Amino acid sequence: MGAPPQVIRALDDRFDVTLRELMELSRIPSVSASGFDPKQVERSADAVALLLEEVGCEGVEVLRLGDAHPYVLAKCPARGPDAQGAPTVLIYAHHDVQPPGRADHWVTPAFEPTLRDDGRLYGRGVVDDKAGLMLHVAAVRAWIEAAGGPPLNVTLIVEGEEETGSAHLLDFLREHRERLDADVLVLSDTANLATGVPSITTSLRGIVQIDLTVTALDHPIHSGMWGGPVPDAASALSRILGQLFDASGAPAVLGLEDDVPVIDASERARLAALPFDAEVFRRDAGMRDGVELRGAEDGSVYERLWLRPSLSVVALEAMPLAEATNQLVAEARARVSVRLAPGQDANRVAACVVRQLEQAPPAGVRVRAEVTAAVPGWKRGSETEVLGAAQRALSAGFGCDAVLIGCGATIPFVGPFSDAMGGIPELLLGLEDPPCNAHGENESLDLDDFRKAAHSSAHLLAELKTTLAEKR
Ligand SMILES: [Zn+2]
Repeated sequence: MGAPPQVIRALDDRFDVTLRELMELSRIPSVSASGFDPKQVERSADAVALLLEEVGCEGVEVLRLGDAHPYVLAKCPARGPDAQGAPTVLIYAHHDVQPPGRADHWVTPAFEPTLRDDGRLYGRGVVDDKAGLMLHVAAVRAWIEAAGGPPLNVTLIVEGEEETGSAHLLDFLREHRERLDADVLVLSDTANLATGVPSITTSLRGIVQIDLTVTALDHPIHSGMWGGPVPDAASALSRILGQLFDASGAPAVLGLEDDVPVIDASERARLAALPFDAEVFRRDAGMRDGVELRGAEDGSVYERLWLRPSLSVVALEAMPLAEATNQLVAEARARVSVRLAPGQDANRVAACVVRQLEQAPPAGVRVRAEVTAAVPGWKRGSETEVLGAAQRALSAGFGCDAVLIGCGATIPFVGPFSDAMGGIPELLLGLEDPPCNAHGENESLDLDDFRKAAHSSAHLLAELKTTLAEKR
């Protein structure tokens, strides 16, 4: 059963307040990256803590661990006839944000959240992840106002360093394990398949990153006086990178796909049933006219995005054009990024790519391949009851069926987070949509979806209570 009507009414009555609070939080430039003022992340933690206290949470604390940016922890105990021994949901969000990027590419300033008449709120952090926090805050507040408290115990943990890789998260979980004890984990910063389409993310890809350095000379030399017999690093690097791909641009790394899990017919049918519009997809990706989607022979776009590995060169350095003279380049570098299918062994894939990069370098140039990340993907277990509860809650909140999707990106801590909490089921729900441009300039939040997601959260608390109580 979802939330009673009076809870939804209480939420709607306060929606303007919730939106204003979101805008206030988004005014704080809580950039966690190094080189930005850490005091702003402190300010943001304090503001979140104050808000949670005002809402009626208990035991609100700003917690610090070593030199990590501060976390906020809050609890909201169950109320109602069977509050005693009620299950607990642990809701995770983060209050830090990405750096704003190029100021002149923002239509309105990054830290002056602005409503535009396209029904979206623009500003850094508005969707990633301050709305992810606020939608749950709105739901908890509505339950407190309409029913004295939520139907199950709610613990909120709001991290301050997600955007820099959550380096201390697992230590934090270990240190506060008892206070965080829960039956289910809800993560709030994933994406919806499309605006207005509520989605539960059930898999994530992993990532392998390799930094490659090719050295041919100990200093640059005149291309006319030496070119021909003497090789250069930039051309050698191009050749080495070229060997990673076939003529169509698809990865051609020996062994890369050896441990990709088989995609069965029912999964394929599920992917095929998801809405897909190639034109919208191309537009959202910013593909130029004439540029084609690749790999159609390897399955649907969703299959290629979520369940198969991909390989890209994401950085390349040799000589900037503006500084180039007629010289042979002595050293050139590149970063190769592999996204792994969920279930693939990250270290095995890293070894495959390194082997291919290092084999037979042209003219014997020196090649150094350094693996700088090897993180496996994640796939949801078979916890179907909790999934069903989330589907019902999202469908009620959005007024249409919720879909199960994958995500092509990597959230390294999802599996370890659940493990640290004793293997509790996790639900990945979020508000990002294809046009939201999280991490880029002009990040934005769809306000309709924000309200619907808050409704969904109110319903989710009721659905989880019933589902988890039955399981006990
Ligand atoms: Zn983010």
